[in-house]
Parts: sequence; structure tokens; C-alpha cells
Amino acid sequence: MTLTLAIVGRPNVGKSTLFNRLVGKRLALVDDQPGVTRDLREGEARLGDLRFTVIDTAGLEEATDESLEGRMRKLTERAVDMADVCLFIVDARTGLAPADRVFAEILRRRASHVILAANKAEGAAADAGVIEAWELGLGEPLRISAEHGEGMTDLYAALMPFA
Ligand code: GDP
Ligand code: MG
Repeated sequence: MTLTLAIVGRPNVGKSTLFNRLVGKRLALVDDQPGVTRDLREGEARLGDLRFTVIDTAGLEEATDESLEGRMRKLTERAVDMADVCLFIVDARTGLAPADRVFAEILRRRASHVILAANKAEGAAADAGVIEAWELGLGEPLRISAEHGEGMTDLYAALMPFA
């Protein structure tokens, strides 16, 4: 059985950027496919010699009548239940937002394995945000930059025990 990894986190933290980096062009479900749900994207990821299924949670970006927190809960719960491991991404540049603490609580209760990553961590400007991520109580945050491909060896090491 192959590992399924769900990438979760509030809008704009860099989930899709990381998804695209891991999946490249090997996208299983594309956004413009008719009838395909847009809020969970699945692809076949590669990281070094690891092969796994990765789920990108989108769907929080669109404005609807339902509250962001309500949608976050539902979507995150769906993704968590599909996944063996959750990669919870926070933004090291903006620092923690209230929604990050809500996510952390959902994940603590529901997910069997959580890897925390502080993204956009290229450069010293991100140091404070990386340190703040410890407050989530999910262990040591991986320092990554999805856009620049930094921290991928640490991500590899964190995933390897599950693969
Ligand atoms: P999502 O809403 O969580 O899927 O976030 P996106 O992947 O769409 O990224 C949101 C914004 O953050 C985009 O403008 C990205 O280019 C930017 N971004 C993503 N990763 C990084 C990173 O590692 N460093 C920086 N500086 N920006 C990033
Ligand atoms: Mg996205």
C-alpha cells in the first residue's frame, strides 16, 4: 500500500505550490476536468526515491455563505480521513494566524500522524515565524520553501518512516 499524504493549512500558505513541486506534471485529477471536485486534488508525488499519493486541499479560497472555519473543518476532516499522514503548513513570513491554531486542534484530535512545516522560510526574515510555529504543540516545524525547493531533504527524512 502506498502512503497517502494530505497537505492542509489555511489559504495562501503555499499548499498548492508544494503540491505542484511534489507532483510535477503527474497530476491525477486536473482542475478543469468536468465533474471533478475542486476542493481536493490528488496526484502521484515523487521525492527522491519515495513515491506517494498527495492530496492538496483547496476549496477554502472561494467565497461562500458558509464560514471559513466551518468549511475548514469539513474539508480538513475529509482529507485527514483519506490520509496516512498530514502535512500541516503554516506561513513563516506572516506568523501564526488564529486559523492555524484551529487547524492544529483539528489535527491533534483527528490525525494519526502530523508533520508540521513552516513554509516561505527562505531567508532570515522567516526565523521568527519558524520559532513561533513551535507554539502549535505539534513538535519541531520543518523549515521549508516550497517555491525555492528548500527543506526538501528534511521533508524526505520526515516522510521516510511512513513510506
Ligand atoms: P495555498 O493557498 O496554500 O495553496 O497557497 P499557494 O500555493 O497558492 O501560494 C500562495 C502564495 O504564496 C503564492 O503567491 C505563492 O507563490 C507563494 N509561495 C508559496 N510558497 C512560497 C515560498 O516558499 N516562499 C515564498 N516567498 N512564497 C511562497
Ligand atoms: Mg491552493
